[in-house]
Amino acid sequence: MKAAVYHGPRNIKIEEVPEPQVKGSKVLVKFKAGSICGTDLHLYRGDWKIKRGRIIGHDAWGIRADTGERVVMSPVTNCGKCYFCMHGQPSLCERVLYYGLTKGGFFAQSIAIKEKNLIPIPDAVSDDEAAMMEPVALALHTLNLLKPNADDFATVVGQGPIGLLMTQIAKLKGCRVIAVDTQTNRLRLAEKLGAEYTINPTEEDIPKRVREITGRGSDVVVEAAGTQKTVEQTPFLVRKAGRVALVGEFEGYLNLGDADEACFFSTYISAVEYPTAVNLVAHKKVDLQSLITHKFKLADFEKAIQTANDPTQKPIKVIISA
Ligand SMILES: [Zn+2]
Ligand SMILES: [Zn+2]
Repeated sequence: MKAAVYHGPRNIKIEEVPEPQVKGSKVLVKFKAGSICGTDLHLYRGDWKIKRGRIIGHDAWGIRADTGERVVMSPVTNCGKCYFCMHGQPSLCERVLYYGLTKGGFFAQSIAIKEKNLIPIPDAVSDDEAAMMEPVALALHTLNLLKPNADDFATVVGQGPIGLLMTQIAKLKGCRVIAVDTQTNRLRLAEKLGAEYTINPTEEDIPKRVREITGRGSDVVVEAAGTQKTVEQTPFLVRKAGRVALVGEFEGYLNLGDADEACFFSTYISAVEYPTAVNLVAHKKVDLQSLITHKFKLADFEKAIQTANDPTQKPIKVIISA
């Protein structure tokens, strides 16, 4: 079968690999579609390294070979026995493995995967929508941790695919969303998806504008741009006793002397929110269709990842299908 195999920075190739072995509690899933995520781009650019020869991809769905059912694949494994598993936080499992990073991933024609990693897809979710559930699950996880109250201000810094989902979920939670990004097309999309205010830092000072809008600082802040500057700015955006989520990989150092009794925490992918993510999309509460800018076949994966990595093409979500 064919798969997207990592051989180092800017060297991910579609090539022939052995068919997966179906054993124990695993089932065979035939790949139908997936999407390229920021993590894949970190690998592509060489910011992060994984074992050479590993299949990449961690956001995808397929068809179960045994039942014919459409299923989203959750990319996080857990042991079910460690401290974190036993305390209801299986995504923090001490023996966690991530498909497409520390374990062979989803961008292959088929995969043998544990049944507990499969979430059935309702008919109301389209093939394209099912290909991008990871950022929905991550946005839900982050807003669930931030616990905003209705009518709270939520400032979402960075309106890439993850930020645009944070904007939508914050709005769903009843927040007034302030969306921040340097690209006008992304800010326009953020408005369409529910942002009440937008700030472009190439034109305005972010902390000053947030103060003007909120009066006291933002009740919650989501940092989803991942740059040193935006991370170090978060203490100046949040109100006293507010909460700040630093999403995924971020750079820089927080000077907590700049913060006034605020709460800062980091957040990563969570498998627990996948079923709710699928339901929200089925119930048309989250718009994924508007995020799709490019589509490629798995056979053209190299072109797909080049496009996702090329800002001149204004990519948001790049979909890969069988
Ligand atoms: Zn991802
Ligand atoms: Zn565990």
